[in-house]
Amino acid sequence: MPLYLCGELDPDERQAWLAALRASLPDERIEDSLDRLDPAAVDVALVANPPPGSLLGLPALRLVQSLWAGVDRLLADPTLPPRVPVARMVDPAMAAAMAETALWAVLSLHRGFFAYARQQRDERWQVLPQRRADEVRVAVLGLGELGRAAAARLALQGYRVEGWRQGATGSPARADMPVPAHEGASALAPLLAASDIVVNLLPLTPATRHLFDAQRFGAMKRGAALVNLARGAHVVEADLLAALDEGQLSHAVMDVFQAEPLPSGHPFWRHPQVTVLPHIAALTDARSAADSVAVNVRALRTGHPLAHLVDRGRGY
Ligand code: NAP
Repeated sequence: MPLYLCGELDPDERQAWLAALRASLPDERIEDSLDRLDPAAVDVALVANPPPGSLLGLPALRLVQSLWAGVDRLLADPTLPPRVPVARMVDPAMAAAMAETALWAVLSLHRGFFAYARQQRDERWQVLPQRRADEVRVAVLGLGELGRAAAARLALQGYRVEGWRQGATGSPARADMPVPAHEGASALAPLLAASDIVVNLLPLTPATRHLFDAQRFGAMKRGAALVNLARGAHVVEADLLAALDEGQLSHAVMDVFQAEPLPSGHPFWRHPQVTVLPHIAALTDARSAADSVAVNVRALRTGHPLAHLVDRGRGY
């Protein structure tokens, strides 16, 4: 039965995905247009943020496999077939890339490299105090596939890393947690109050939307920094600007935004204490991601359990 690739991909990306998927699944028919397929026969949809309604009219669908790690936009589509399992992308190459970005951001904040870049622009020669890594407390919010990879890399670098997860109502406990994990809503405020740098790697759900608002920024240690590598809607941007301007926060590294691309003229672009990245903290690598897709498609074909299924009730 054929596989249907659909979503927001530019032509080059689309060709790269088709080539990678066909190489990883040589026995499967994979097309990116329903014109070349019998919609009634499609049993797997491979999706990259498809426009709402894209999966209507596929009565044989048995798996929706996301090519992206975040499934918030997919789950927000009211026409998503309710009983078809949704799996998200878990790819070791993506986790490695996210760990690199988290390490770069934390290291740059810890050693003042963003401040030194500002000083260079101002032709100012000034030595700033230097702390040891083990004097810097880092909180990683979200200890999922990407949060665990980032936390492990930061801990290896010598930072005092602690994490935050949902706990009892979240994923099952696991033995390979790389850092101490605080659990549940009540654990967040003490963790924020103790941390010099907060790295956000939570999924976007109703519970985490706008998590970082004026109240949460107020609960952070004065002069702390935020690194948002997850989703733009986790942060109330006006509240972040106020927290930076009041000195409550010292810096924000932002890879994701409420509106993307970040609109021209947005205050983040030129804010001296904001570092802007164009949503590149961890790109999906079609070559390795296609292998992850292949594992799930083969599991479906052979009646084995599917991996990385999304709990739609939980939202991740
Ligand atoms: P994931 O595996 O689904 O991570 C879920 C983690 O968040 C779990 O530890 C979970 O707790 C915790 N969590 C969820 N809701 C919570 C809540 N209400 N309170 C406390 N903890 C909560 O996600 P992922 O694949 O690591 O992705 C993390 C984020 O990165 C997502 O937002 C994704 O969209 C984003 N992302 C960004 C990029 C980029 O380039 N910037 C690339 C890929 C992904 P439990 O352990 O208790 O379940």
